[in-house]
Amino acid sequence: MTKIHINVTDPVNLMSLNSTKLKEFLDSFDHVFSDCDGVIWSKVPSPGVGAFFDRIKQLGKTVHFVSNNSMRSRKNYEGLFEAANIKNGYENLTVPSIAIVEYLKSVNFNKAVYCVTCPETINVLKSHGFTCKHGPDIGAPLHSDYQQYLEDDNEIGAVVFDSDFNVNLAKMYRAINYLQRPEVLYFSGATDRYVPMKPGCLCLGTGIFTDIVSEEANREPISLGKPGKLFGEFAMKRAGITDPSRVLFIGDMIEQDVGLGRATGFKTLLVLTNNTREDMMAHPHLKPDYYADSLGSLVPVLNKV
Ligand SMILES: [Mg+2]
Repeated sequence: MTKIHINVTDPVNLMSLNSTKLKEFLDSFDHVFSDCDGVIWSKVPSPGVGAFFDRIKQLGKTVHFVSNNSMRSRKNYEGLFEAANIKNGYENLTVPSIAIVEYLKSVNFNKAVYCVTCPETINVLKSHGFTCKHGPDIGAPLHSDYQQYLEDDNEIGAVVFDSDFNVNLAKMYRAINYLQRPEVLYFSGATDRYVPMKPGCLCLGTGIFTDIVSEEANREPISLGKPGKLFGEFAMKRAGITDPSRVLFIGDMIEQDVGLGRATGFKTLLVLTNNTREDMMAHPHLKPDYYADSLGSLVPVLNKV
């Protein structure tokens, strides 16, 4: 029996596998972790995506979801999963805000968290009993007044960066200042340098600000978002999985999704939405193991197994 040749420089088109190779592919994993934005839905659900996950479950695989997007509320996620015909999606979803909560609980954290985050991450932290401080949403107009942002606050025991689209210089001053104390924990959630804005258009994400703060504070954040290995391991722990090589990670972004797979030891499947095909070909070292046009397009292929 021939084994599927998995070469990082040579991604395999799943649509082109014959039935023997397809079966070998399916035998090579027990669990599917899927990204959400750009894979399951963009503005609306990707056609056939619910049928894809139904078929994958029929084939005996477990299904979990792993997203960098802490910005959606639970209600919003539940509505999107429902529209995509995916049952219990939210219950099986891991996002950075949840990972950060679990980490803080695991170290019995009892100080305040300085949040340079989206409002929903603050809501999640607060709902688990953590004290959050944030802002200012608008910094002082004169730089001479920025001294106020250099005052320490001894209540702060952690700094969190996660998708704050209103990040500003004042918040960065505060974060850098708090991080001068080595005991202050430093977390990053989504660190995406680029995010899809519209088809064919990637724009700068908030990760660049985290990079600047890390550099200025000379601190490395505990990365609880893709492509951080710890985040991949956290998602495995939540799913009760111990062997990363039995996980197939599905995503649409090279850096975040294929990067997470590489860091954690997952197999990777890239769906070709947005700029993905060009990215896939152009990236110097990150290549997926497999690719496909979309998850819906794989349903007829899987139905033949
Ligand atoms: Mg995505």
